[in-house]
Amino acid sequence: MVSYSNFSEKLALIKSGRLTLSENVDFFLQKIRDNSDLNAYNFVFEDAAKKRALEVEAKIKSGNFGKLAGLVVAIKDVLSLKDNPLTCSSKILKDFEAVYTATAVQKLLDEDAIIIGKTNCDEFAMGSSNENSAFGPALNPVDKDYVPGGSSGGSAVAVAAGLCDVSLGTDTGGSIRQPASYCGIVGMKPTYGLVSRFGLTAFASSFDTIGPFANNVEDAELLLSVIAGFDENDSTSVEHQYTPDEKNLDEIVIGLPKEYFGEGTDEEVNKSLQEAISTLKNNGVKFKEISLPHTEYTIATYYILTTAEASSNLSRYDGARYGYRSENVADLAEMYENSRSEGFGDEVKRRIMLGTYVLSAGYYDAYYLKAQKVRRLIREDFDKAFEEVDFILTPTTPGTAFKLGENIDDPLKMYMLDIFTTSANLAGIPGISLPVKNVTGKMPVGLQLFGNRLSDAGLFAAAKQIFSLL
Ligand code: GLN
Repeated sequence: MVSYSNFSEKLALIKSGRLTLSENVDFFLQKIRDNSDLNAYNFVFEDAAKKRALEVEAKIKSGNFGKLAGLVVAIKDVLSLKDNPLTCSSKILKDFEAVYTATAVQKLLDEDAIIIGKTNCDEFAMGSSNENSAFGPALNPVDKDYVPGGSSGGSAVAVAAGLCDVSLGTDTGGSIRQPASYCGIVGMKPTYGLVSRFGLTAFASSFDTIGPFANNVEDAELLLSVIAGFDENDSTSVEHQYTPDEKNLDEIVIGLPKEYFGEGTDEEVNKSLQEAISTLKNNGVKFKEISLPHTEYTIATYYILTTAEASSNLSRYDGARYGYRSENVADLAEMYENSRSEGFGDEVKRRIMLGTYVLSAGYYDAYYLKAQKVRRLIREDFDKAFEEVDFILTPTTPGTAFKLGENIDDPLKMYMLDIFTTSANLAGIPGISLPVKNVTGKMPVGLQLFGNRLSDAGLFAAAKQIFSLL
C-alpha cells in the first residue's frame, strides 16, 4: 500500500486514485490481525469498517464529503457507539451494548470518519499501565516487555503500531498524555468542558476529558477541532468555538516550573528534556523559570477527589441494571454484593473503598473538603503562572515506560507516576505530550506543554512548531 505521513496526504492520495479506501481499511485489518499479541483492541469492527470504506470512498468521488472522510479512527472502550459493545475493559460490563452514541463519536461519524474498533484500556480508565484490564494488558510496540502506559494504552498502541490512523482516548489524570509519552506519539488532553462528555463512561466527572492520539500534531488538532463544541447533553460543556491559532513561537514565552525538573525525575528524562530545551533555545524560543508551589500536593489531592467521584459514579453497577450479575445469590443484598465483588477488578475496588472512606461522615471535612480547597490553590498556581508566560513546558512523566508487572504490587508507586499530568486535570487546563529523542536510552520520552484554559488552539500552534524543531 502507498504510504502517507498525515491525513491531508492521505486524502490527496485517495482523491488522485492512488489509494483506495477499501484497500487501506483491509491493510489496517490485516495489520491488526498480525499484531494481535499487542492486544490493542477489545473489538474490531471488520464488516462495518469495510462497508463504510465503500460508502465514504463514493462520497469522496462525488466531491461531497466531511472533514474526516477516509480517516481510520480507533476509540477507547469507554466511549459509547450505539449497538456496539461498551465494556470499559471490565467484567461487570461484559456483554453490555451501548444504547446511544457519544457526542464526540457522533461528530466523527458526521464528518465521515471510519471507526475501526474499540481499544483496550485499564478498567474504567483507572490505571497507568493498561494492566488493569479484563482483556489482559496491551503491550508497548517499541518493546513488548514494557507497558504502553494507561489508562488509554490500547489507543496509544493502535496509533504507535500503525493499526489505525488516529484514535480517541480519555484523560482524567494523564491517561492520554502518559501513554502517548510511553509509546512515542502525540497525545492531547483538551480544556475541561471543551469536548462533551456525553456518552463517555464516567470515572471522575469533574476531571474526565476526551482527546486525540496521532503520529503528528496536525492530525491530532484536526481530530480535536471536530470533536470540540458545546453540547446541551453535558451540563459542564463550555460555549466556545474552536478556531485554529496562527501564533508564532517567537512571540511567546514558555515557563519552566522548577518543581517539575528536580529530584524524582529520572536522569534519562531530565537529560532528554534539557537537550530538547536547548534545541528550542537555539531556535529563538524564550524560556522563563517559574514556580508552581503546590505541585507536591497534586497526587494526594487528585487521588482523594477522583476516588470520591468514582465511588459515586460506579454505584450504578449493581448487577440489576447493567452487564454482569452474579449467579450465586440467596437474596437481594447478596446479589448486589456478589455482582460487584465478582465484576470489579482489584484497582477499581481499591478506588471505590478509598472514595467511600473520604466521603464518609467524620472524614469528609478532613479529606474531601480539604482536597477541594487544595484543588483551588493548584488552579491558582496556574492562573498566576499564565500571567507571566504563555505556555508551560515539563516532562510528561518522571520516567520512561516500565516493564510489565514491575509496579503492579505497589499502587502508591504507580500513583506517583502521575505527578506531572494530574495537575492539568485538577486545574482544567489543556496539555499535550510530544515525543522527544531519548538521549541515553531506548524507550520514548515525552515533553508536555500546558496552556491556559481554552488556549487549546494556541497550544496546538506552539506544539506544531516545537514538534517540527525537535
Ligand atoms: N493514572 C491515572 C489514574 O489511575 C490517570 C487515569 C486517567 O487519566 N484516566 O487515575
